[in-house]
Amino acid sequence: MAEWEACIGMEVHAELLTESKMFCSCANAFGGEPNTRCCPVCTGMPGSLPVMNKRAVEMVLRTALALNCEISMTSIFHRKNYFYPDLPKNYQISQYGDTPIGKRGWLVVLVNGRLVRVHIRRVHLEEDTGKLFHLPTGESAVDYNRSGVPLMEIVTEFPPDMHTAEEARAYLETLRSVLVYLGVCDGRMEQGSLRCEPNLSVRPRGSDTFGVKTEL
Ligand SMILES: [Zn+2]
Repeated sequence: MAEWEACIGMEVHAELLTESKMFCSCANAFGGEPNTRCCPVCTGMPGSLPVMNKRAVEMVLRTALALNCEISMTSIFHRKNYFYPDLPKNYQISQYGDTPIGKRGWLVVLVNGRLVRVHIRRVHLEEDTGKLFHLPTGESAVDYNRSGVPLMEIVTEFPPDMHTAEEARAYLETLRSVLVYLGVCDGRMEQGSLRCEPNLSVRPRGSDTFGVKTEL
């Protein structure tokens, strides 16, 4: 495998440790009796209007500064439309344009005694979806308690700085520590508070073109 090189980018989603959800006053907490922490706003009832959670913005700002990002003085939310049962509004409020809260940052990670600078493309704010449960009877049920929980997305820069599994692991471990120390996320991966999606491709070493990307 010595003649092949992996190229690894990473998208990380972190649920923020706010008291309430992103655009309503429902409690932001893990678990609970299904569909007891939701309201007309986070279930997308007609006529309901979102009100932004100031503390969530502060937490993303804190993270963006810790990741050496430029801060956008104007930042815009979009409606990302798609149909899926865990998304009762049929759109997610997200920031996918050129004005995420933080952009063009970096994080230095230690890998086998060597320092690697991983560049960050963007740090932005969005809302989490509900959760589907697939029951033994073959039916599916949906719990909207998580719907509208403040969710921060941290995306690494392209072209990728990471080329080995060790670097990807070190990046995630370091990033998790930063988020936990900042007090913005509890880092409990077993509860889904922190989720990662690596984008992976391989190419012959020395090549300047990229292979076909797979998102894991
Ligand atoms: Zn709500």
